[in-house]
Amino acid sequence: MLIYKEKRVNMLKPDVISRLRKIVGKESVLTAKEDLIAYSYDATATWVHLPDAVVLPTTTEQVSQVLQLANEEIIPVTPRGSGTNLSGGSIPIKGGIVLCTTKMNQILEINKTNLSAAVEPGVVLQDFNIALAKEGLFYPPDPQSFLSCTLGGTVAENAGGPSCAKYGVTKQYVLGLEVVLASGYIMNLGGVTPKNRTGYELATLFVGSEGTLGVITKIVLRLLPMPPVQKSMLAIFDDMVVAGNAVSNIIANGVMPAKIEFVDNWVIRRFEELMPMGLPVEANALLLLQASGSPETVETEIRQITEICHSSGARETKLAKNQAEADKIWKTRSAAMAVIFSAAQTVLTEDVTVPRDKIAQFIQSCQQISKKYDVSIPLIGHAADGNIHPHILTDKGNAEHFERAKKAMDELFVAALALGGTISGEHGIGLEKQHFLEKAMDPMAIELMKQIKKILDPNNILNPGKIWTEEKG
Ligand SMILES: Cc1cc2nc3c(=O)[nH]c(=O)nc-3n(C[C@H](O)[C@H](O)[C@H](O)COP(=O)(O)OP(=O)(O)OC[C@H]3O[C@@H](n4cnc5c(N)ncnc54)[C@H](O)[C@@H]3O)c2cc1C
Repeated sequence: MLIYKEKRVNMLKPDVISRLRKIVGKESVLTAKEDLIAYSYDATATWVHLPDAVVLPTTTEQVSQVLQLANEEIIPVTPRGSGTNLSGGSIPIKGGIVLCTTKMNQILEINKTNLSAAVEPGVVLQDFNIALAKEGLFYPPDPQSFLSCTLGGTVAENAGGPSCAKYGVTKQYVLGLEVVLASGYIMNLGGVTPKNRTGYELATLFVGSEGTLGVITKIVLRLLPMPPVQKSMLAIFDDMVVAGNAVSNIIANGVMPAKIEFVDNWVIRRFEELMPMGLPVEANALLLLQASGSPETVETEIRQITEICHSSGARETKLAKNQAEADKIWKTRSAAMAVIFSAAQTVLTEDVTVPRDKIAQFIQSCQQISKKYDVSIPLIGHAADGNIHPHILTDKGNAEHFERAKKAMDELFVAALALGGTISGEHGIGLEKQHFLEKAMDPMAIELMKQIKKILDPNNILNPGKIWTEEKG
């Protein structure tokens, strides 16, 4: 945890600030303390650090010139979209420049024949979805921060979301990228064709690279036709573990719903306290499900899901009768994090992912860890992916409680790894999970990542201090 350090403010040489102003314009360089504070945190609860300046470029050429300057002066540059990430990825932990792409927010092309779109990195996902819907097109990756997260941020994090169960995560939709390297070189990778087997898959290397390898300035995304029918339903369970087993059973029976999301009793009750929606407060867990496709497919899938939920122990299933009811179901998921975050001073949000046949076991582990450390751990998650988000409720102002919460977090990582899972399904490593990287990844693979970073960014200016712990000295 870091605190604001007064001495870091404006530690860039005055001539650097004036050169930045020449590149992007006076109004696009922020140095006032109140502005710097706004870019010193993200959606994590414990990380905060002031940058020395915030730069808001509008063109690739400007990004290139900013990076050339930063590389020459060895100034850290932290790329940033909307700052909604949950791993400390956009925290300027070494100070320097925050390079925020929110002014690069143009949808450059939507091509119905190529089923592709070219966008600037600062386009907000919801704006993109609205534009696509008008054309009858669909971009599946749907992080539940869709109202504010940028497409650049989602590519840099390889974001997932409820629909990724059936349709795949962001990396499956990136056809091409324009990336500015630390040297300022503007590199183009991939293109618009759905197939491209020219050399290594270098575009994929930048997907999920958390702003450490280059600044993404243009993205070409693969699209799908909008599924003609989508139907949503709720399955109500008296036991969380039984709900977890139901998820495994649905998939094992050859049914792949578009979405299966998990919400526990703590979250249901909190919803009903804050904004009553008629959720069953006595239920121990809900599964929120969606089938999508042709009318016949959807009808068959909904019947199969209903049968499997009941045979797996669901107390009740409810099919949404209209769009308003379906919207209510999905509000339960999209607002769940806000509902949880309002309940404690500090919330540690994790996104461990376990094999789909181990979901129930992992839920049991969460329950045991919650008891062992006497901390509340509400659970939501993209259950169909085995991607569970335990939220540890704590207060970083209460050292003893916070210590217990951090121990609980580490034990959740251990439990996920023991089940053959991973410490992050979609939120990335950033600062939050780097202390666990060595337990989760082959040492040679970590070394390879460091070598790749050294080749692309020899002066270590791009988002330094992220993903792995840097050696001292
Ligand atoms: C309520 C809520 C719900 C969420 N739900 C989900 C979910 O369902 N699934 C999921 O995957 N995530 C989820 N997230 C996390 C978050 O929204 C995603 O990680 C998202 O991809 C971040 O986008 P952003 O624009 O906010 O990026 P930021 O947070 O600004 O940046 C994220 C990372 O990308 C880098 N970066 C940003 N832009 C660029 C660029 N142009 N070039 C290079 N690097 C760049 C940054 O340096 C940083 O490392 C949720 C967050 C919240 C607050």
